[in-house]
Amino acid sequence: MNVHEYQAKELLQKFGVATTRGKVASTPEEAEQVARELGDVAGPDSGGQLLQPSGATSEKDTKRRSWATQPVHTTGCPPGAKRVDLVVKAQIHAGGRGKGTFTNGFKGGVHLCKSPAEAREIAAKMLGQTLVTHQTGPAGRVVNKVLVAKSAEIAREIYFAILLDRATAAPLIVASTEGGVEIEAVAAKSPEKIIREQIDPLAGLQSFQTRKLAKQLGFDSSQLKEAPKLFDGLYRTFIACDCSMLEVNPLVVTPNGTVLALDAKFNFDDNALYRHPEIAAMRDIAEEDPREVEASKHGLNYIGLDGNIACLVNGAGLAMATMDIIKFYGGSPANFLDVGGGATEEQVTEAFKILIADKNVKAILVNIFGGIMRCDVIAQGIINAVKTVHLPVPLVVRLEGTNLAAGKKLIAESGLAVIAADDLADAARKAVAAANPK
Ligand code: GDP
Ligand code: MN
Repeated sequence: MNVHEYQAKELLQKFGVATTRGKVASTPEEAEQVARELGDVAGPDSGGQLLQPSGATSEKDTKRRSWATQPVHTTGCPPGAKRVDLVVKAQIHAGGRGKGTFTNGFKGGVHLCKSPAEAREIAAKMLGQTLVTHQTGPAGRVVNKVLVAKSAEIAREIYFAILLDRATAAPLIVASTEGGVEIEAVAAKSPEKIIREQIDPLAGLQSFQTRKLAKQLGFDSSQLKEAPKLFDGLYRTFIACDCSMLEVNPLVVTPNGTVLALDAKFNFDDNALYRHPEIAAMRDIAEEDPREVEASKHGLNYIGLDGNIACLVNGAGLAMATMDIIKFYGGSPANFLDVGGGATEEQVTEAFKILIADKNVKAILVNIFGGIMRCDVIAQGIINAVKTVHLPVPLVVRLEGTNLAAGKKLIAESGLAVIAADDLADAARKAVAAANPK
């Protein structure tokens, strides 16, 4: 599961990780209100460390800001009104927002501004609009919420991520002084700029490691307390929330040396979500594939793909093999659907409904191995499900395993237009042919 940046920052703050202060808004008026509140808490004498004094901007900062700033409107800010440095950020489950473009032509999902009225104007241009970034694909994502936050002044942008390294089965910190930009490009062009620090899962992140990282990331001796403290907070968040990935890009150093997380992206281990009802409650279904949402309601593992052969399979390994062999015979899978080892007839029925709801689907391939479940039971389930659902596309069925003969007999005598297959290769060939009639 993923969460929005504003939710990720709420979690980080719980673990004492410094971020900018801000709040989410769903309407332009709310955005203005939040901006006003942010202005009020950090008046000139509040000493709020996250509100940076304006001015004293280096040339590099100005350059960095130029694309994020876009048109910095001064309209709506009456003379003498309190001016604050704010940022309005589109909230979608995808990165690359800063360099993204809305389909209405508005450029940038991250905008700096100076007044509550401006925050409202920018929010109005983002909310309800579709933002396309290099991570959303051409269809883009509709922005339903924006984060309005204090803007931080940036001296340096660092990349910092913690993930599970499958090779060592342990957490791994991946960091770089080249933050802000796409880390994939840094890894490809200058791999020596990627720092890796493996963590012993039992001992946890040690202080010698956080100090080493701080030095490698160019922090000077005055920051050798603050930076390690932040890394430590990120690691504690990663472990306590059962994350599979926690990425902060950028982690920024302000001109006065404050270190904070300016962006945050989390991936949670879905199998551990039951331990975190407060995180599970952050799920935003509007950001997910509706087919996957429906499938998860019925306990089905479904992942939508863009081909035209729907697969209904028991077991993830078998699902992978099925997709491979479809590709091998020149076809393209429309999905990955694993009904699991003990699927009920209701689940199989729901699975068929989800498959045929996908307008791209031109044929369905059922590939079941009757191990614990017997083939005759499965066959009866398929027959009943198909009778309820009325399939609009050809159905190829391949069964193997316990009570195979009885299963095949049931299907043959069912009177349904099922294309029976003898083995996996036969099934794939028949499914590809059925999906692409001459
Ligand atoms: P992403 O493009 O989706 O990864 O969104 P980010 O939150 O990482 O923002 C993109 C870029 O916008 C960052 O790398 C920063 O350079 C800039 N940016 C984001 N927030 C702020 C802010 O509060 N102040 C300033 N000055 N720049 C910001
Ligand atoms: Mn980012």
